[in-house]
Amino acid sequence: MERAIYLDYHATTPVDPRVSQEMFPFFQDDFGNAGSLSHGFGEKAAHAIDKSRQIVAKMIGAGSRSDVIFTSGATESNNIALQGVLKVLSKQGKSHVVSSAIEHKSVLDVLACLEDQKLIDVSYLSPDKDGCFKINAIRDALRPDTGLLSFMFVNNEIGIINPIKDIGELSRQHGLVFHCDATQAAGKLPINVDDLGVDLLSISAHKIYGPKGVGALYVRNSCRLEPIIYGGGQERGLRPGTLPVPLIVGLAKAFEVANLEMSAEAVRIRRMRDELLKGLSGGIKDIVVNGSMEQRLYNNLNISFLGVKSDTLMMNLWNDLAVSSGSACTSINWEGSYVLKAMGATSERVNSAIRFGLGRMTTDDEIAKAIPILRAAVAKLRA
Ligand code: PMP
Repeated sequence: MERAIYLDYHATTPVDPRVSQEMFPFFQDDFGNAGSLSHGFGEKAAHAIDKSRQIVAKMIGAGSRSDVIFTSGATESNNIALQGVLKVLSKQGKSHVVSSAIEHKSVLDVLACLEDQKLIDVSYLSPDKDGCFKINAIRDALRPDTGLLSFMFVNNEIGIINPIKDIGELSRQHGLVFHCDATQAAGKLPINVDDLGVDLLSISAHKIYGPKGVGALYVRNSCRLEPIIYGGGQERGLRPGTLPVPLIVGLAKAFEVANLEMSAEAVRIRRMRDELLKGLSGGIKDIVVNGSMEQRLYNNLNISFLGVKSDTLMMNLWNDLAVSSGSACTSINWEGSYVLKAMGATSERVNSAIRFGLGRMTTDDEIAKAIPILRAAVAKLRA
């Protein structure tokens, strides 16, 4: 049986062969511990880490490579950033946070936990019906005790791009710290932390054709974090533990390839995404696109097939098409997308939403096949 067509690139991506090739020597021949500087094995590993750090710093416009710390992924980056900075800010009486109701759970659950501990107070802004935020609404939420803004770059369900530069400017005007979860934007949109006014930026390798289990956190050198885990002092004491050299080499290579191919990939994937939308809206009645098409990243579509439950549709598509109804990280105990709910979508729309994510390995042929598969499945379930 042929494999299903994979259209769930927001959940994860396959490793690009150029990336795995770069990683491979560091599993066997060059296996040294980057902390063992008393011999050549360690030195070689340390050199690879240094080079990778330099690449990642360059890709995000960081002033210095020492502003980049390697983590196990964006969940850990978000935890180290938010818990770390809020431990400091709350002691300075800056314990109010402005964030959004549609952040990833690795932001929302950290904030909720710190709220439970009475360490912070959070204003969660809801987007408009198109999933967008206006800078004035963020400005209006500021208080004298506001210390931190946390807004994602691109939403993982509806692909909406937030006005990060405007938020960064607001943050600078008010002397705040700005954390941005750039997991879905990295490698797809140009990022320059200085231009954007971002102080803390989270990224993950497995969304950009790199390996799972590695990510990075940019920490502006003026931004102080208290550690949340303790150990051997690696990564400026913020992420202690022996560095996973092959994974870090993979993250850097994935980033490098993504930046090199970004503009051509954007054109190709956008064309296929628009083709998919055309094919679905042309052949299926009563569908609604969730979120603004104008503010959306080129690889995303989120569509409600009214009258067809998303889980039933996904079960029907199982052998043919890999899609999802929302974030993979919350798919256990799924009660419908909190992102769509925050946009004020009706429960019918929430319960019938499907997220499509296109990526580097998606082909025109796959899109051409996906359209009739979806048309037939929706028609069958509606009949
Ligand atoms: N933030 C966003 C926006 C994401 O999409 C994800 C992955 N679904 C994460 C954070 C968590 O990333 P990781 O899997 O690397 O922990």
